[in-house]
Formats: sequence, structure tokens, C-alpha cells
Amino acid sequence: MDIKGKRISIIGAVRSGVGAAKLANIMGAIPFVSDSSEKNKIINSISVFEKEKIEYEYGIHSEKVFDCDFLVTSPGVPSDSEVLTTARNKKIKIFSEVEFASWFCEGKIISITGTNGKTTTTALMTHTLNECGIKTYSAGNIGEAFSEIVLDVKGNEFVALETSSFQLDYIEKFKPMFSLILNITPDHLDRYNNSFQNYIESKVKITMNQNENDFFIYNADDKNTFVYMNNKRVPKLSFSLKNKVECGAYLHNNSMHYSWFGSDLNICSSSDLFIKGDHNIANALAVLSVAKTLNLPNTKIRDAFNSFKGVEHRIEFVDEINGIEFYNDSKATNVDSVWYALKSFSKPIYLILGGKDKGNDYNQIKDLVIERVKKIYAIGSSAEKVYDFFNEFIPVEIKETLADCVVTSLDDAKTGSVLLLSPACASFDMFDNYEHRGKVFKEAVKKARV
Ligand code: ADP
Repeated sequence: MDIKGKRISIIGAVRSGVGAAKLANIMGAIPFVSDSSEKNKIINSISVFEKEKIEYEYGIHSEKVFDCDFLVTSPGVPSDSEVLTTARNKKIKIFSEVEFASWFCEGKIISITGTNGKTTTTALMTHTLNECGIKTYSAGNIGEAFSEIVLDVKGNEFVALETSSFQLDYIEKFKPMFSLILNITPDHLDRYNNSFQNYIESKVKITMNQNENDFFIYNADDKNTFVYMNNKRVPKLSFSLKNKVECGAYLHNNSMHYSWFGSDLNICSSSDLFIKGDHNIANALAVLSVAKTLNLPNTKIRDAFNSFKGVEHRIEFVDEINGIEFYNDSKATNVDSVWYALKSFSKPIYLILGGKDKGNDYNQIKDLVIERVKKIYAIGSSAEKVYDFFNEFIPVEIKETLADCVVTSLDDAKTGSVLLLSPACASFDMFDNYEHRGKVFKEAVKKARV
């Protein structure tokens, strides 16, 4: 794709915006970055722009934004924002950052989307393929922006790309060799006019440009995906925790199998996977579908599953004090991921729940909470909602800080239990982001030890 001399307006000056601007610059285009945030929010990006001689503005989106050949938008910019609406009205083409970067990708793309499990699966995919001797980069919402690494990727190499539905909203030619939809449950509906159908349709776009030489991999246990898919050309594989699948990977008697029409291979035991929980077995089955389609050796896949220790803030083991295990699942920002976290433990659980509520319906986890949770510590701006919902079933105590939860749990819990931070909410009422929340929790556990 030749973009020499093209004027490209880039909306958003954080990770993907900076990556897109640098890539545009290298490819001989004329990028202009616009971010409505105040200067102090994008101060690090500004130093990059100054160094690379990239034009930028902050605090507003001026008219200059629309004086361009096309626009590249960052995933954080809502579709109904004024700047994108105006661009659409002016008939300016809008592309997402992954679409833009993919124009320059010589390697093969494995694009991974889903409501939950994208980061974990992307990391496990990268680890597994690399351990099997196939050079693979991670990019997207995980680690670096696609635009930052795309020029490093050679023709025979792979990129495991964590792809949010916001990135898929503005694709045109984006064509992965493997596209994966891990699961689809309601989340982020505020960005899709509160329509679950719109949200699903945006995820299913991941496969729209694939052809008979590519592969689409979906979760056979998740009924939502298939209904909206209309790409008939692409070969389809699926994965399942419950049933045998014709092509793809499935769990049977605690073994992970790969099947391809008539042939069936027992690859490894689910206990070979170091990371916990059925949801992670599902993530691993998705990875297995790709690895075996590429004909990678079973023993190497098994070793890779065993040596992958997980991603920070996703059911991350922190410490054990007085026989109580502490787990940080700060990334659990919706009810569905809490359900999976609760399912991952057979020990009694003390659960920290609450934060900035995105419209949670706790009925979804009510029975599981009653079955497995001994007590809830409710935190943040939704503490009272948590209290009101659960108090009639199990003990709930409202707490001011994560440190209070940790200290109280040491009095409440017995040896052989788990204290789990899996809040089902966003963190912005008390913290900068979920990483900050997770770090504060881990710090509190560390302090409790001394
Ligand atoms: P994402 O990048 O899609 O947000 P992560 O891998 O960061 O996904 O995990 C987010 C949360 O969802 C964590 O609490 C994690 O334990 C949970 N999770 C991971 N995989 C799955 C899955 N397949 N289904 C449901 N929840 C999952």
C-alpha cells in the first residue's frame, strides 16, 4: 500500500495513535495527531511527536483534522463522538489502527477477539508458537500497538493480535490467516447503542475478508457467535469444553484432543496447563486449534502449556499467608469473568466485589456465590448495590480499602481458603485503572505478611 504524501489525521494520542503516527511517518505520509485530552495526559506522546517531527494538537479536535485524505482512529474513541460523526458527515474514510497497520504486514496475522480471555489467549498463543520454533509477536491491546511492530514482522513470521471490537468497527481489508472469537457475552453495550446484536456483528467482522486459505475458529459452546456469521468461504474450526467437534479442539475425560474430520489426536492432559480454570482450558483449546492446524509437535505444545505462567491481574497467585491463598483477578471487570474465577477454585472463597458498576446483573453468579463464597467484602461506589443484592444469602461487609479487606480476611478465613479480588466492576471510582487496583491489592497482601 503506497501512502506516500497522503495526509492522515490520527485521532487519539496514546499507544495506538502514537504507533500509527510513527508508522505513517516512516511510510512517507504526513500524519497529524489530534487528542482532546489535556497536555499532561499525553505528555509522553508529545515527546515522541517532537522527536519524530510529527504534527499534533491537544485539548481540541480542530478543523485541521478534517483536512486529510483519511482518518485513523484509536480504539478508545467512541463511534458517536463528535469528531468521528463530523468525519462521517464529511465523507472522510475512517480506519482503525489495526486496519491501517495491517496494510504493511508481511507476516501472518492471528487475530483474537472475544468478550473475555483475549489477553490471556494472545499471550498463550505467542508463547506456544515461539516454544514450537515459530517466531511470533504479540500486539494489539496487549503490549505494543500493531503499528509499532508491524514492520519487524517477516513473511514467514506470525503476529498474535489482541483485537477489540472497537478495532474491528473500522476495518476494510483486514484479513487474518486465523481469526478467533473466544466468546461473546454482553459487555461494552454502551458503545453499541445498547444493542447486543450490534456488538456481536462487530466481532464477527473479524472474518469478513478471510478466504478458503484462512481459518475461522469459534467457541462451539457459545451460541451467540454463529448466528451472525455470513462468510461461507472460510474453513471453520471450533473448540469445546463439552462436546467432540468435527474440526478443532475439544476436552474429553480431562484430555485435550484435536480432530480434523476423521482423524483424532489426544494432545495432552488438561492438568498439563499451568493456568487455572475451565475458562483457561477453553483458551488453550483455541490455541491448540491454531497450533495443530500448523502441524506443530504435541510434546512442544504440552511443554508450552506447562511453562506459561499466566498474565498479571488474571487469577494471579499473589501469596499464601496462614494457609490462606491470595489471588489477584483485578482484570475481572464484568460478571462473566467472576463466574469463571469462582469456578476455578474448589476451596472456600472470600470474595472482594465492587467498584464502578457497568450495569451488572448479579443473578448470573448468585447460585455460584452461594455455593462457593463464604463472605463478600464490598468495595467502591457500588458497595451498597453488592450489599443489597447478596446480604440476604451470605455475609457481606462493606470495606473502605483493599488493605481493609486483606486484613479482615486474615481474621475471617481459615487455613485452606482463598481470598479472591475479582470485582466484576471497572476500577475508576478508586483507582487509575485495573492494573493500579491489582498492584494496590498485591501491596496490601505484602504488607499483611510482615
Ligand atoms: P480480555 O483481554 O478479553 O479482557 P483477559 O485475558 O485479560 O481477557 O481476562 C479478563 C478476565 O476474564 C480475567 O478475569 C480472566 O480470568 C477472565 N477470563 C479469561 N479467559 C476467559 C474466558 N475464556 N471466559 C471467561 N472469562 C475469561
